[in-house]
Amino acid sequence: MTTDHHKKKTGADSPRATRGKGRAAKAAASAATVKHQPPVAQTDAVSLAQAEAVASAADGGGFAELGLHATVLHAIADAGYTLPTPIQRQAIPLALKGRDLMGLAQTGTGKTAGFSIPIIERLLDGPRRTRALILTPTRELCQQVDESFRKYGKYAGLDVVSVYGGVGYETQVAALRGGVDVVVATPGRLIDHLEKQNVSFEDLEVLVLDEADRMLDMGFAPQIQRIVAQIHPYRQTLLFSATMPPEVEALARKYLRKPVVVQVGRRSSAATTVQHYVYPVPKQRKAELLADLLKQGEMDSVLVFTRTKQGADRVVRHLESEGIDADALHADKSQAQREAALARFKAGQTRVLVATDIAQRGLDISGISHVINYDVPQQADDYVHRIGRTGRAAQTGDAYTFMCADEIAMVKTIERTIGQDIPRRSVVGFDFGT
Ligand code: AMP
Repeated sequence: MTTDHHKKKTGADSPRATRGKGRAAKAAASAATVKHQPPVAQTDAVSLAQAEAVASAADGGGFAELGLHATVLHAIADAGYTLPTPIQRQAIPLALKGRDLMGLAQTGTGKTAGFSIPIIERLLDGPRRTRALILTPTRELCQQVDESFRKYGKYAGLDVVSVYGGVGYETQVAALRGGVDVVVATPGRLIDHLEKQNVSFEDLEVLVLDEADRMLDMGFAPQIQRIVAQIHPYRQTLLFSATMPPEVEALARKYLRKPVVVQVGRRSSAATTVQHYVYPVPKQRKAELLADLLKQGEMDSVLVFTRTKQGADRVVRHLESEGIDADALHADKSQAQREAALARFKAGQTRVLVATDIAQRGLDISGISHVINYDVPQQADDYVHRIGRTGRAAQTGDAYTFMCADEIAMVKTIERTIGQDIPRRSVVGFDFGT
């Protein structure tokens, strides 16, 4: 199948050869010149995706064996990847065949490349029409998916536009009307553009629902419904989700045709590489405990989760009053503020990022040494996702959960769900007994 796929793409008599020529030929030329270059080392830290790729090496060969075009292989080599991760190894060949997919994989597994690479392959030849749409729950994830398309498609000459709320509407209109190959969007803003007829999905071939569970959690089901209604049924649909509650299954039944389920089993349980602890602490002393732990100085970069936006702001104020650099990341911040906060945290300029659920998934913040659940997550699944933020870029990480008396029952539920007890750590002067 992949052979046919390539024949069609590179054939001189291909109906798409005119448009394909620029992209594929340019790509082939540049790929040829660097063919023997060693892959560029990406970071000093070993990412989870890399570790998974190495772990899955025994299952098969490298990217070349997945039947990818030189253009794409070249970009993958530039990214420093040598081996596909398990989700990529499973998803890429199936997606290239045109199958609908249900990918059970959380962020960190390499799932974004798992869907963007086969889409780029498909788009290598063909007219400049909007042929792929990726729906994501948050703007941050939108940006990350957009970056992936640019990274893996850098020799493919594709036009990608991100469409999300809070930033330059007119720029998005101009890009959409100018014609793009790939649209990456949050559902709310996209509806707006659809209503104003700034974009048409007449030629859409692939639809991706990324982090479907999160989109449903955020109440996007009606928007998704309205968007999908504009796309003809003979599309390919790829759905990715970290969890598979009945609502996501229902979504898959509605929008996917005979999907193949691909799953990264090893990541579904918490803490393969993460050390986690529960700190019993009275509610009103959580801020002090946090400052106290941070002052001990063992934590380099710390992502703190609070239940509410106000809570996040309060924690930031408390830390700052204690002389600790901290930033908040939540939905009340403007897009520019959120981007700046994330950039400072990523650059290591801010040591502590205090976030609400919005930052829980989809953010590629590598190098986090600690995650702190300032409030116990309301859902056991959320616990798994949150602590997935650490132990991801570095091979190990610590995850601490502050538990006040009201939260004991929720911690027990989490322990039952993940099938293990989380060890307790009492800090003298802060625990329930004092
Ligand atoms: P994702 O799960 O898509 O958010 O990807 C997590 C991280 O893994 C991203 O920083 C990717 O750049 C990286 N990554 C994706 N695929 C690979 C691979 N095959 N080898 C090494 N790193 C990868």
